[in-house]
Amino acid sequence: MAKLSFFGAAQEVTGSCFLIEDGKTKVLIDCGLFQSPRFSNTKNTEPFPFDPKSISALFITHAHIDHTGRIPKLIKSGFKGKIYSTFPTRDLAGLMLKDSVGVLAKEAEREKEEVLYVEEDVDKAMALWESKNYKDTVRVGKMSFTFYDAGHVLGSAMIMVSCPAMTRGEIKILFTGDLGNPTNPLLLGISKVPSPDYLVTESTYGDREHEGVEEKKLKLERVIEQSVVRGGVLMIPAFSLERTQELLWEISDMLRNKQIPNMPIFLDSPLAIHATEIYQKYYSYLNRAYIDKESFSFFKLPMVHFSLTTENSKEINSAPSPKIIIAGSGMSTGGRILHHERRYLSDPKNTILFIGYQAPGSLGRRIEDGADVVKIFGEDVPVRCNKEVIYGYSSHPDESALFEFINSHADTLKKVYAIHGEPKASLELVQKVRDYLGIDAEAPKYGESVIL
Ligand SMILES: [Zn+2]
Repeated sequence: MAKLSFFGAAQEVTGSCFLIEDGKTKVLIDCGLFQSPRFSNTKNTEPFPFDPKSISALFITHAHIDHTGRIPKLIKSGFKGKIYSTFPTRDLAGLMLKDSVGVLAKEAEREKEEVLYVEEDVDKAMALWESKNYKDTVRVGKMSFTFYDAGHVLGSAMIMVSCPAMTRGEIKILFTGDLGNPTNPLLLGISKVPSPDYLVTESTYGDREHEGVEEKKLKLERVIEQSVVRGGVLMIPAFSLERTQELLWEISDMLRNKQIPNMPIFLDSPLAIHATEIYQKYYSYLNRAYIDKESFSFFKLPMVHFSLTTENSKEINSAPSPKIIIAGSGMSTGGRILHHERRYLSDPKNTILFIGYQAPGSLGRRIEDGADVVKIFGEDVPVRCNKEVIYGYSSHPDESALFEFINSHADTLKKVYAIHGEPKASLELVQKVRDYLGIDAEAPKYGESVIL
């Protein structure tokens, strides 16, 4: 018997945190930050709805802040257990958590709130953190936890939990974490797993289809070419992890094959630059059919510029157009992209290209939804540039890929819990699972507990 409680990412996309207990042992899967509409929303300051001292271990699916960002707070609140993830996830999470310290400090100062955590808290978390390989199993009490490749970002894992059943045998619960987009050329994709009894699955795009692998590349090529013809700036707000590396990979491939003209490409994000270095370190985790250590040669392409310092970032302004600027944050909720948006959104020659999910309330979503004017650093900025969207670069599966994944386990599944999605996306997936597969499904609410 196991009790499963949903303490985040329940009918929303951030704050992933699930508690699983077998009567004696309590274990958490993910401990993420609630991030919508701000980088850190006020829900993060509320006490945990469980006693952190009573938790034996924490398993982390992947390095995104909405899966890791409340770890320092968990430790401040008395958690003394072990933290487990894959090797790349530990490195990437350390990088991302350290980076978030500065963002949180700025936000806390602006909102006159107490800062959620500081660098020292992140160091304490890293000291408790142990790395594992895919397929490694960790036992905690009578439960066991196994990592499988989720194909979402470097090091991302699904976690299969086995716990003793009420009478005999065991029950298997698969937590998908965030799943990958099968069209991603860098990663190996979602790995095969033993069939679970229960599935706790992400549903970010439970209601939407992406472009296919060829279509997305063609669309990117077209957007770049049109931007060159207009002689404008192409801004791409990108997440530092995965999408940036995939985008750089694709653009450098187009440059090598002379599919697009030479022009300066700026990666204006220290976080993305450091994350790319971790991709190089763990290249053996990547899709070896395409990639070896040398394949990361976009580091050496003369037209790709890495803007580490603020000075480097400012120099981008003086580079003549056409040019491409890839900068974070991915939803324009902060980061260097804001400076470029303030400067370039008002010119019809320029283009902004969205390649990922834009959360409600974020600046990116307002632009995507057609706002005529947006406020950046207190200034009214008219939006007159071209807007383009390519969902195919999302690092999540679309509705069909997600459904296919669930369908592949349909024989054994007793129930599906759709988490990590806006209500419409989660509920649409729930309906589809019930209607087409005849499997019980639900989109749990925050704080809901179920006995499995
Ligand atoms: Zn993620």
